[in-house]
Amino acid sequence: MATQSSFAEIGNALRKHQRFAILSHVRPDGDALGSQLALGLCLKQLGKEVKIWNGDGLLEKYSFLAGGSLLTEPPGQPEEFDVAIALDTATYERLGTPLKAVHSATLWINIDHHPSNPGYGDLVYIDPIAPATGQILFELIRSENLPLDSDIAENLFAAITTDTGSFQYPNTTARTFEIAAELVRCGVDVGRLSQQLYESYPRRRVELLRALLTTMRFEGGGRVASFKLSLAMAAKIGATPEDNEGLIDHLRAIKGVIVAVFFEELADGKVRVSMRSKSEAADVCAICQRFGGGGHKLAAGARVRGSLTEVESQVLEAICDVVNCHA
Ligand code: 5GP
Ligand code: MN
Repeated sequence: MATQSSFAEIGNALRKHQRFAILSHVRPDGDALGSQLALGLCLKQLGKEVKIWNGDGLLEKYSFLAGGSLLTEPPGQPEEFDVAIALDTATYERLGTPLKAVHSATLWINIDHHPSNPGYGDLVYIDPIAPATGQILFELIRSENLPLDSDIAENLFAAITTDTGSFQYPNTTARTFEIAAELVRCGVDVGRLSQQLYESYPRRRVELLRALLTTMRFEGGGRVASFKLSLAMAAKIGATPEDNEGLIDHLRAIKGVIVAVFFEELADGKVRVSMRSKSEAADVCAICQRFGGGGHKLAAGARVRGSLTEVESQVLEAICDVVNCHA
């Protein structure tokens, strides 16, 4: 692993260079997209040439974010950069198609909060305690005196509120609330932003939830809850991949459930497994790493080759070993 860089080193690199590519992981969440837009807007204010790319582009539900039109899918033709920055991305491969679009970059910067991040890149800043990459970016911006206007603040707030489950997860600290307060002072309209983030879902997302609940099952005396989505179900509802972000929280919210799991059949012969835990003792990152994935102790995922039912039984078995369902 590269040694941890300081904010000063990263700040110097941001000031010194001119052409930037800002990247994040496939199947982006609010932290990925909010962090990309926040840093992109910040660098643009410094007069830099900035490309903000994501393999999935800007999701419809985040399209209201300030500067959203700057975030696009990468072009087919590769481009040259001075600096490429990976945000919120635990492994280099999870950057997806934008990797091909970055023809070359003199310097790679890796800023993340996933404990499983191996530290790829030349300048690396990983804070596994930070609840969101957006929180690390706030600290970087403040410590290096970089621009922070209301548009940048809105994106940082969106990153932090989404990755903390609206300031609820245990990694939410006093510092997180101090940063949120500071962002509100910078002009974030909390009511409007929360409504856009949490009360503007398409109706088909709830139709998807209804279908998922018909597949809900429990293991280990109710300590493990799961549901699954086949390609056929998704097609029938017209669900898009972004519709299911957060639906797993309905399983986690059940009393007695320690581990919640969501299985999603993918078109490439794999199953996307998404896991949440309510106990440090049930480390879902460790379970997902056994299947080639990763993430955080309490929120992790993997893509596993096999049919929906095969992967379901293998993964539930592995979880049951950990939470002692058989006892
Ligand atoms: P989600 O369940 O929301 O897709 O992901 C939860 C967490 O697990 C996120 O922090 C995400 O980065 C990580 N994660 C999800 N899928 C994968 C995967 O296939 N590989 C790795 N390394 N991490 C994943
Ligand atoms: Mn994150």
